[in-house]
Amino acid sequence: MTCGALGIVVGVANSLTNNDAVASVAYFAATALLALALVVSAISNKPDNRIWPMLLLIAGSSIAGQIFDARFADQSSQQAIAEAFFLLLQILLAIGLTYISARRLGNDPLSGVVDGVIVGLGAWFLIWVGLLKPIIDTTNQTILVNALQGATLAASAVVFFTLATLFFGDSLRTPAVWLVAGAITFTLTGDVLFAAIDAGRIDISSNHALSAYVASLFFAAAAFLHPSIRSLTSKSIERQQRPLLGRLIVTTSALTLPVVVLAVSDPIDASDRTVRAVSIAVLTIAVTARVVQAVVSNARIQRQLIASAQTDALTGLPSRSLMLTHVNNSLLGAYDEGRQPSVLFIDVDRFKNINDSLGHQAGDDVLVAVAQRLRNALPSHCVVGRISGDEFVVLDGETRSPSEAMLIADAILDSFHEPLSLRQGDVFVSASIGVATYQPTVSGNADDLLRHADTAMYRAKDAGRNCVAVFDESMLERVTQRLAVETALYRALERRELRLVHQPIVDIEDGEVVGFEALMRWQRDDGSMISPAEFIPIAEETGTIVPIGAWALLEALTHLRTWITEGICRSDATMSVNVSPRQLHDPQFVSVVAEALRRSRVAPDQLWLEVTESVMIAEPEQALNALNRLCDIGVRVAIDDFGTGYSSLSLLQKFPIQRLKIDRSFVNGVADDLSARSLVRTIIAMGDSLGLDMVAEGVESVRQLQTLAELRCAKAQGYLISHPVPPDSMGSTVAALDQFGSWSRLRGPRNNS
Ligand code: C2E
Ligand code: MG
Ligand code: MG
Repeated sequence: MTCGALGIVVGVANSLTNNDAVASVAYFAATALLALALVVSAISNKPDNRIWPMLLLIAGSSIAGQIFDARFADQSSQQAIAEAFFLLLQILLAIGLTYISARRLGNDPLSGVVDGVIVGLGAWFLIWVGLLKPIIDTTNQTILVNALQGATLAASAVVFFTLATLFFGDSLRTPAVWLVAGAITFTLTGDVLFAAIDAGRIDISSNHALSAYVASLFFAAAAFLHPSIRSLTSKSIERQQRPLLGRLIVTTSALTLPVVVLAVSDPIDASDRTVRAVSIAVLTIAVTARVVQAVVSNARIQRQLIASAQTDALTGLPSRSLMLTHVNNSLLGAYDEGRQPSVLFIDVDRFKNINDSLGHQAGDDVLVAVAQRLRNALPSHCVVGRISGDEFVVLDGETRSPSEAMLIADAILDSFHEPLSLRQGDVFVSASIGVATYQPTVSGNADDLLRHADTAMYRAKDAGRNCVAVFDESMLERVTQRLAVETALYRALERRELRLVHQPIVDIEDGEVVGFEALMRWQRDDGSMISPAEFIPIAEETGTIVPIGAWALLEALTHLRTWITEGICRSDATMSVNVSPRQLHDPQFVSVVAEALRRSRVAPDQLWLEVTESVMIAEPEQALNALNRLCDIGVRVAIDDFGTGYSSLSLLQKFPIQRLKIDRSFVNGVADDLSARSLVRTIIAMGDSLGLDMVAEGVESVRQLQTLAELRCAKAQGYLISHPVPPDSMGSTVAALDQFGSWSRLRGPRNNS
């Protein structure tokens, strides 16, 4: 860039000096500089090898032209030779630029070329009227020189065209491109100035025109010294935003200037009239072609935009909007034809787990494979679309009853029996499918059908995944009800509608109450009581479990503190509080626990946090981290409902756990069902070997309690011992349990076999 600026300075200085000798020195010095730059560039920048022969020819013809030029040689006989070299120079420049711009035009080469034609033609017209015609008419040069000069100027118009084309391309304009363009612009300026002097249009010294050539040589040297010269002939980085404004200004000027000239000047003679008419006619054709091309390419782009908005890029399936159009179309005339088009809403089960454990690339591969499976599993008249993430929709416009749609759904479930083969290995996936069938009064339009199929899909998920649910109206009621619960739950805490009840946990050996489990209740303002099984999952999903759980912790520990103070229970009695995964993943959770312990003045080892096995399976790292920090402050952790999840022995060893709570479903059959009993025996043996405390949940009968005692289970809780009771009833509940002899009656005779 500095070299280019220097070129301008030298050019201006040369013009100001206006001395022939100085001008010659400046010109040859600039030529030497360019030669040096070429050598340096060849060594350090290593530009595209193919440009060297062309460059040598350009340099050769330029130097030869100057040597033979009358201004130096002063022999008019040699002027024709000089002009021939100048013509050759322009032709070579045009060819070189065409080569470069052809490689840099990018996506839309045609528009660049046509714009270039318009600029070239505009320039040609101005050159003809302003320079060429006067030169032909006024100078007393030979016809040959005149013809060569005319051809050179015409070739300049072509150079103009290629230069414009280069600039209208999609490739990024690097400094080298700017410098080459600068060099050529100065060359053209020099040409025009010489021609104007020759034509008698301007009366200035030819040294001024030579200054333009000097600047041009400096620019060319600068271009070759710049490292970006390497990518001159490559397409390089595409421009994000095409330079529309600059392009518009240049092409519009190329169009309007000739029109203005045409309006203000009359043709001199018949030849002038013919050249003008032909030039303007060609210009008009080029402009018309450009307009047609712009309209056609706009229409094409619009079509592409619509198509990409309606197609899912990953799977190539129709997107939500196109699926809605398909559903709408299939509903047309369905009633009259006795058709009941069906929509199946398909959600890949546990897709998040796949994404989290195998990575997003595997997740994408699964989606592509699922799309393929669906296509293969379905009759050809069905349409499959992907409407978001892991959600696919199938439209069968030909079904005549919900049972036909069920067949399709079953076929889809069957298709997932085989694993998907991915680059990462085989992966089994299952899907939950919701089906909605067209019914004029219920699912009467495309939106309804899709929404109802979605609702049914959630029912399938609730039913344990990998199954199908067909939409019926009662589902809508449940959705509305759930929405009402969600909204009311937000307020439940501040309206003091939540309560804790407690269930005592006893030592099976001696019946002493050793602890309590806090269980939440929600008493709504209309007096109705909602079970935690109903509202805890909603609180988890919406995140309200975080503040609610924090409240429960402090409340439960405060109750324990009161009971200890009032002598209702032992001073080392414990409080068990249920904790959901969402709470564990809350970064504040550990400090919430610590704060509750501090405020209630309960020792950390008197708090049991009950988590389910699912905590260890989904996002185990995060859970492990939280549980370890809790253990560090002395809090203990129990696995609730043990046996219903899928935790492995290795997970149990890895997690900081001190207690297992045997799920009610096993305790239920422990007295009568041999397999349930041997399962409980195994769980207890395993717990013992890991040094864990064992609690049996949901003990309802004396026989269950006796069997658990035989199996040496340490602790128990259940309706047999006590239902969960409100905090103020705990005094009488514990007193009743502690009553002398009541326990031995419950437990029956000791049997240590
Ligand atoms: P869980 O932690 O396993 O609690 C034991 C459930 O079994 C309680 O149901 C309890 O009332 C019931 N139960 C106790 N003994 C018997 C019995 O002998 N027979 C029968 N059939 N059931 C018995 P509840 O109170 O409806 O709680 C259900 C679940 O809701 C709890 O299961 C727990 O997972 C969750 N939950 C309750 N309170 C909270 C809470 O404060 N936070 C969290 N995150 N979850 C809670
Ligand atoms: Mg529990
Ligand atoms: Mg439980």
